[in-house]
Amino acid sequence: MSTILVTGGAGYIGSHTCIELIRAGYDPVIFDNFSNSKPAVLARLNRITKRNIPFVAGDIRVKEQLEAVFDAYSIDAVINFAGLKAVGESVQKPLEYYDNNVNGARVLLSVMKERKCFNFVFSSSATVYGEPDSVPLTENSPVKRANSPYGQTKVDIEFMAEELQKAVPDFSMILLRYFNPVGAHDSGLIGEDPRGIPNNLMPYLTQVAVGKLPHLNIFGNDYPTPDGTCIRDYIHVVDLARGHVAALEHCMNRSGVHIYNLGTGIGYSVLDMVKAFSKAIGRELPYRFAPRRPGDVVQCYADPSKARNELGWSAQKNLDEMAADSYNWQKNNPNGYDN
Ligand code: NAD
Ligand code: UDP
Repeated sequence: MSTILVTGGAGYIGSHTCIELIRAGYDPVIFDNFSNSKPAVLARLNRITKRNIPFVAGDIRVKEQLEAVFDAYSIDAVINFAGLKAVGESVQKPLEYYDNNVNGARVLLSVMKERKCFNFVFSSSATVYGEPDSVPLTENSPVKRANSPYGQTKVDIEFMAEELQKAVPDFSMILLRYFNPVGAHDSGLIGEDPRGIPNNLMPYLTQVAVGKLPHLNIFGNDYPTPDGTCIRDYIHVVDLARGHVAALEHCMNRSGVHIYNLGTGIGYSVLDMVKAFSKAIGRELPYRFAPRRPGDVVQCYADPSKARNELGWSAQKNLDEMAADSYNWQKNNPNGYDN
């Protein structure tokens, strides 16, 4: 079966994807520098999968470290999750984001080209659509200049992959535009473990639920939406992970540029999320309205029909499962992997 190099595989989405790769018969090799993850995830993954998943410590910006992995394993495809992802931090540290994300992807692609490994799956984001002209977003919706260095690294890496594919037509560039991943594996053994105070909605909600934070601040309740709060397309991370397997199965060794939205197609407001979460924990979750967060788009949700029609993939898990699984992970691991 095929061996898949999973760069950033110790992180939130990468760890869940390794499980689904194994379930589908692939052999993942994890490569990570733990800049935003913990080694403890590896033992948890081995426990869940009853495997000893190969792991190599390294940084995608270091060519020799990647070459050593290609020497040690016969890699058929790479899924690149390795990236920094905090929007606010990227505004403070743009050069670090360009170096880690764009330069890292450049080095990775150069090694893949050298080793004739032509299947590249990239963790892109709905952020490439910027403030949408209309929703739902299809893959043909315009890609815009992003409003943060983080978002722009996604736009730039997509362009770099497309340009490389023109120059080296053997490449299959699989660009997956994620909407808002939430939830956790139902074992409660792995999940999202942000450093410090979470920036994103779901990890913030889970920390309020376990009493680590007093209440949720809802950023803005005067948006032009039915309840005044922003709308997003939240997708269970296990569904998202399965989307990678479906994309590999369909696009591997099929040269070209393949772009898919991975979302549910349903938009939920922040207040909808609070309601679902309150239901999952069996009590009202405390929240307050706060000023708008600069740069927030009003509403963003996918038209997921291309992935459904071409990959035979669609998200299966509903909002209640997303909330329950997020809470289960946080409840069992109030301090994340530092238990
Ligand atoms: P994460 O931070 O949990 O995982 C990223 C992993 O990459 C971490 O384990 C980190 O240690 C590793 N890493 C970072 N830089 C590296 C480098 N130079 N070399 C080796 N390893 C490195 O993040 P995640 O939520 O799992 O996201 C994975 C990818 O998906 C990221 O590229 C992110 O931008 C993208 N994405 C995430 C979301 C989201 O909301 N979580 C949405 C859209 C896109
Ligand atoms: N949000 C919020 N309070 C928080 C974190 C997020 O009200 O503490 C809102 C945010 O304004 C946005 C939605 O929740 O409308 C999703 O935010 P997140 O950062 O998770 O995703 P993104 O905005 O990057 O899609």
